[in-house]
Amino acid sequence: MATKTYRARIVQISPRLGAALERTHYLFAEALNQMVRRYIDMRKGKYGQECKKLADIMLTRSNTFAHGVMDQLTREISTSGLTDEWVDLARAVHKSHGPLFLQHDGFAEVDGVMLHTKRHGKVSPMPGRLPVNAKFWHQVCDSASAFLKSNNELLENWRQGRKEWLQEKADWESANADFMRFWNGSYQEFEETCEIKRKESQALEGQKVVEKKRHRRDRGKRMSRWHLWYNWVITHPEIIEWRNRAKAAEFRPVPPTVHKKIKNKYPRQDKHITKFLDWLKENNPELKALDSRRRFYVRNYLRFRRPPTLTLPSANKHPYWFTFELNQFYKNVDFDKGSIQLLLVDETEEGSWFFRWFDAKIQCDPRLRPCVRAGVFATKGRYPPYIGGKVGNKLNRPAERPENRKAGYAGAKLVLNKRRKELFFTVIEQDCPRKVSWKKTKQRTCRGDNVFAKDGSQIPLKVMAIDLGIRHIGAYVIAEACRNRGVWDISWQHKGITGRHAVPGLKEIRQHDRQLRKARSQRGKPVQGEESFIELQDHRTNMADDRFKKAANTIVELARQYDVHLILFERLGNLSPTAFDERWMNRQLRDMNRRQIVDTVKLQAREFGIECLEDISPWMTSHICSRCFKPGWRFSIKRKNPYGERFTRKNCRDYGYPVWDTGGHLFRCPHCEYKCNADINAACNVAAKFFGLWSGLDGLKRDQWVYTWQENQPKTFDAKKTFLEWALDVRNRKLMGDSPF
Ligand SMILES: [Zn+2]
Repeated sequence: MATKTYRARIVQISPRLGAALERTHYLFAEALNQMVRRYIDMRKGKYGQECKKLADIMLTRSNTFAHGVMDQLTREISTSGLTDEWVDLARAVHKSHGPLFLQHDGFAEVDGVMLHTKRHGKVSPMPGRLPVNAKFWHQVCDSASAFLKSNNELLENWRQGRKEWLQEKADWESANADFMRFWNGSYQEFEETCEIKRKESQALEGQKVVEKKRHRRDRGKRMSRWHLWYNWVITHPEIIEWRNRAKAAEFRPVPPTVHKKIKNKYPRQDKHITKFLDWLKENNPELKALDSRRRFYVRNYLRFRRPPTLTLPSANKHPYWFTFELNQFYKNVDFDKGSIQLLLVDETEEGSWFFRWFDAKIQCDPRLRPCVRAGVFATKGRYPPYIGGKVGNKLNRPAERPENRKAGYAGAKLVLNKRRKELFFTVIEQDCPRKVSWKKTKQRTCRGDNVFAKDGSQIPLKVMAIDLGIRHIGAYVIAEACRNRGVWDISWQHKGITGRHAVPGLKEIRQHDRQLRKARSQRGKPVQGEESFIELQDHRTNMADDRFKKAANTIVELARQYDVHLILFERLGNLSPTAFDERWMNRQLRDMNRRQIVDTVKLQAREFGIECLEDISPWMTSHICSRCFKPGWRFSIKRKNPYGERFTRKNCRDYGYPVWDTGGHLFRCPHCEYKCNADINAACNVAAKFFGLWSGLDGLKRDQWVYTWQENQPKTFDAKKTFLEWALDVRNRKLMGDSPF
């Protein structure tokens, strides 16, 4: 099942419709806000212990469950015949406290209007009251619990992080026992002295002497009492004995000459005291060590970490969008013609609110339109056509056959902003049947042995192996393999490199990163809570997203075009970065590129029944020849330099000469003369590994390669020497054929 969101813009909005849209959103957001607060009150125990317990249960279960409980709690008589722990609780709450509030009396008040559910059928509009249908009420309850649950999750993450942090702190404290002795001993004395000094000066000024209520959390974060600290240090030289590396007698106070000099230069106390301290630190290494330890401790372990705050939903600042449910809040939608009916809150001339059906015009994404969907499905199989009615669980399972796929649409989220009013339709599409299944087999030699067709037979397996690259999206190879007497026969059907001009390269993204870093460093110290270079940052983020999506799309399209069963990726491992990408490619960016593309491909391929494997070992894939499975070489072509080579420009136009480069983009096998792009070779090897063709190579070490140039090894074929001679020949124009290779 693939869930997608397509948008449709509401157009030709009359003032009345516009006002009704705004009003509906406002009403929902306000009601939600009040309901969230009610849930919080319940959890805090405002309505009694049982209610608190109930709220805790509600927030651990599904949203539908939560609104079911809320529904029970707010009726006149509890009606449920179910037997469950929560039902007893709800009944107990109902018995002891009566209903929490009566939903048909009012569950929220917005601008003096009471929102309530309808008890008996139709209600005519009344000033000060707005009857809503059950779905609206349910949605308010649902969304409130969803809102709180997501916040709880955030808080849980924070708690987890804090737990680790506390553990780290305890570890550090036990590892630095000598420092902690100082911190809890002498440093406490200093704190007390400060406290006495403070009280003395308060008394001296004739102020009321106040006790400090508690320690400041950031105690010692900034030494705002430098002069006290300085005085204390020079009267307590024994603190440099903190780890028994120096004697108190070795303490060097600021000599009078320096003292005078600094004081003349900086007459203000807040300036010269810090200079004295600097001097002390320079000349007393133990004091310096102590101070750096103190700074580290304060910075890393005393700073208070704030939990995430709960921001209540509101109509304007933190909107939570209302979802129109099919047949409840919207109906008769025609995506081809662009018409829809919406149930919105209207206002009578007297100013009382009521729900009414509005006709609206929409301009929708072509992918929503049945004619486009059916057309594309017939030719490309991309968007399955709709079935009528409610979707339910009908589309959860894959279709029987690809041509039977169906789709359905469900809720539409109303999103308003200054410029446009839009509906975001949720479209649910059925998956294609899965192409292969995995089964255990005896005498397994490789992972390919575990793949079977749906009926259990071994099929000629078609795979696409990809080696993701930097300059382009990646090199791919389509391989078809048949199993003959326990060995897979591979035939390479297609090899190539994918990449479109429309896909932004990693290089461009990297460039923006560099720009950002440079600009930020020029701007100076960052201000906390303030963003800088928002536009460039956004541009960079969008560009990266664009790349990942387009790349994943291209790969999936390719897989569908060749009708493959499996897509193979290399595992993201500790690939040693080559000199080439180490130089100008941020490793982190490359890893992110890979992770994002693989995740997106996985998600998209499932829809077409294509399986995705991402854990093929990348070991040596780019160094072994994919034809004869012997070690080969990577190199690149250096462009000829007409000046350096004393050739005419015309003679230098055609070729360069090869240069050894472990990250070179070309590959040559000295054993079978196979030449190709290094990335394509790597992709071939990924497929070969999957089919177990590498079994003879296990445990191969670099220094056991046949063509090693170590003296004590028997030389069968010295590839490096051969190649260098060959390269030299090319360079000396002795062997200039049609092509250098
Ligand atoms: Zn070879």
